[in-house]
Amino acid sequence: MSLKSIQPLKDRFGRSINYVRLSVTDRCDFRCVYCMSEDMTFLPRQQVLTLEEIARLARTFQSLGTQKIRLTGGEPLVRSDILDLVNDIGRLGLRDFAMTTNGSQLPKLAEPLRKAGLHRLNISLDTLDSTRFAQITRTGRLAQILDGIDAAREAGFRGIKLNAVIMKGRNDDEILDLVEFARRKQVDISFIEEMPLGNITEHDRSESLCSSDEVRTRITAHHDLHPTTDDSGGPARYYRMSDSPIRVGFISPHSHNFCATCNRVRVTVEGRLLLCLGNEHSVDLRRVLRGYPEGDGKLRETIIKAMDLKPERHHFSTGGGVQILRFMNMTGG
Ligand code: SAM
Ligand code: SF4
Repeated sequence: MSLKSIQPLKDRFGRSINYVRLSVTDRCDFRCVYCMSEDMTFLPRQQVLTLEEIARLARTFQSLGTQKIRLTGGEPLVRSDILDLVNDIGRLGLRDFAMTTNGSQLPKLAEPLRKAGLHRLNISLDTLDSTRFAQITRTGRLAQILDGIDAAREAGFRGIKLNAVIMKGRNDDEILDLVEFARRKQVDISFIEEMPLGNITEHDRSESLCSSDEVRTRITAHHDLHPTTDDSGGPARYYRMSDSPIRVGFISPHSHNFCATCNRVRVTVEGRLLLCLGNEHSVDLRRVLRGYPEGDGKLRETIIKAMDLKPERHHFSTGGGVQILRFMNMTGG
């Protein structure tokens, strides 16, 4: 069957699902305060999908109309042999193949990743102050990430975007500095509202939440922002400035309900297919991967059936409580 003739997956609400985020590890070299607790217990190896199983999932989703795959985690670049997986998926010829990373391994891996067929990178960067960076990530070093961003620019990716989670009293005074940095480096930047994923005790999310509207207001005091029609089918809205080629995005799971156009599903590193970031609906694909090692018929059938479980919408609230017990590193951001 030619790729063009494949009908995309559809859910009960008529949404086409053509975007899959695959988490390749729950492990990470950082312990960001909004994502993990300081003492994390990670999954035993046998519960984690092998790279071959992840590649098989990518192939099967592609045969069901998936055109876009993002690898995430945890930190995808701490998984050993990640380049083999990127090579395997790179060969599928997807329309869009991306990765979200904290950037710490990019000084050495940016170029090999590009050569292995990765198209785009999202790199997390919440602050330009090295002391704050160490506090927010608990273990990270800012200089390494800045080198990583430069290495990614030199490697010639189709797109690079910075992701910044803005927290009141922590880095909200750096919004304009981050925009200036992105303009200077000629990379896109998105500002993310903190989500109530995982039970953290380090801070109270109801106090730290900085809404996208608030971030945008602060930027428009200095820059003209023109809405674009670019739509990722997700919670992001993009703007352009008249004096720079970069895009500024706002990812607002709280204040912008994007569920009606949601085109994506996620697979955790344990092989749980999550139909919605903000709900617990899931299907165990690892059981099928391991129970039916020959032929992908059962796997395809399970994925198609799972679409019926995709809920109409999520219900995050801003009360500060935990709504989903999974940590973001388990979910795949
Ligand atoms: N380790 C990689 C990284 O940091 O980019 C990829 C995984 S990380 C879970 C993906 C994205 O989720 C990052 O941009 C991170 O800032 C964001 N993130 C993590 N926890 C979050 C939370 N509770 N609310 C909003 N964004 C979060
Ligand atoms: Fe690691 Fe990314 Fe979570 Fe930070 S946000 S702890 S870098 S997985």
